[in-house]
Amino acid sequence: MNERNVAKKIAQKLTDAGHVAYFAGGCVRDRLLGNEPKDYDVATSATPAQVQELFPNADAIGAHFGVILVKVDGEHFEIATFRTDGSYKDGRRPENVVFSSPEEDAQRRDFTVNGLFENPATGEIIDFIDGQADLKLKTLRVIGNAADRFSEDALRLMRAVRFATVLEFEIEPVTWQGICDHAHLLEKISVERIQTEFSKILLSSNRRRGLELLVNSGLVKYFLPEVLDLIGCEQPPQWHPEGDVYKHTCIMLEMLQNPELHPEGEQPSVELALSVLLHDIGKPATYTYDEEDERIRFNGHDVVGAEMSEMILRRLKYPNDTIDDVKLMVANHMNFMHVQVMKVSKLKRFMSRETFEQEMELHRVDCASSNGFTDNYNFLLDKKEEFANEPIIPPPLVMGRDLIEMGMKPGPKFKEILTAVETEQLEGNIKNREEALAWVKQTYLDG
Ligand code: ATP
Ligand code: MG
Repeated sequence: MNERNVAKKIAQKLTDAGHVAYFAGGCVRDRLLGNEPKDYDVATSATPAQVQELFPNADAIGAHFGVILVKVDGEHFEIATFRTDGSYKDGRRPENVVFSSPEEDAQRRDFTVNGLFENPATGEIIDFIDGQADLKLKTLRVIGNAADRFSEDALRLMRAVRFATVLEFEIEPVTWQGICDHAHLLEKISVERIQTEFSKILLSSNRRRGLELLVNSGLVKYFLPEVLDLIGCEQPPQWHPEGDVYKHTCIMLEMLQNPELHPEGEQPSVELALSVLLHDIGKPATYTYDEEDERIRFNGHDVVGAEMSEMILRRLKYPNDTIDDVKLMVANHMNFMHVQVMKVSKLKRFMSRETFEQEMELHRVDCASSNGFTDNYNFLLDKKEEFANEPIIPPPLVMGRDLIEMGMKPGPKFKEILTAVETEQLEGNIKNREEALAWVKQTYLDG
């Protein structure tokens, strides 16, 4: 049974018992927009205790806030009692909730397009907040007074930018002013929640606009102020006719959607999007102007950028694997300039790294957004084809135990020897085990 039908059954069970039950929030919005809802939330007049009676196996962990979780076939469905949120003291959570009517429940929601209900049995839309009109206008508008709503819960600031980005909606002017005026309240929000919203923005194909909204509203200052230093960081015009580092980064974020790499709406990874965003983050700190050459330089911006990326992503509490990958990609992005003069062994090792495919895309958009060079990219595509018939790093021809059999003593030298054998193999100078053993003997034992 598909998710919608399961959700309908759940609602039916509630209405059969004499309660009101509607689909609410995101699933109503997404269906009206013609998108597949991610998950179904049910809003009901039944109290948590009454819901639990009907669904005895449900998870009642959120019952205090009026939310019961029902699990069917591994999918979670939230059943929430119509409620009014009590006062907000901490800028994030209501002190208490009061169970109430559908109308009041719509009022407590964040944006008009998120405040719609749907009768699951008939498909009828129940609209207390003019949400349908805003859906048609593709407008994101806060429900009620913008200043109050953003002060109550500052996460809504990030949610506003996220929905505007993902849905490709305009933010209504009063709502926008509210975001700009209350941006500083983001300091009250945990970094984990900011990170979740930020990643959703970066994963949207509309991510360039998302970043611009974060910058223009002032929100970015409270979790990623380093980006502001990219604005006005001039670059040598012969390499970067597009303008400053911020402009360059914005164009790259927009270009980051190679249909060959990401077919059918598949999005780049969050690591790749973060790498694009941060690849030149070290430029402002390394900017120098050479009077003699009349040239701007950013020596070492890759190394500095990798360090900064690590610091930033740790602060934003990204997982270690994500941080490691982004750091590597930022550190390596300038090495793509040298691929055509690398020794074969070095090139093969470079191309065999786990992040290489994503780095190819980073490199592609780096060039496409600035000088338009494609020679290194095409060179690597050719090499990929050339190396495709065999594993790029083949199984070793010689092992530690072979060296012991030759009478050598295990030690740090072993690693050096085995790496040297691998290099000869990657260069094509050694083809098989016999040749490898002979080469080791000749190089390390004879004479
Ligand atoms: P999606 O799940 O696609 O991200 P959604 O609209 O379903 O979007 P959720 O975070 O799942 O968003 O929340 C479900 C509904 O709860 C929202 O549509 C909105 O009506 C309400 N809601 C969620 N968070 C808030 C909030 N911080 N303030 C007010 N209402 C909220
Ligand atoms: Mg949802």
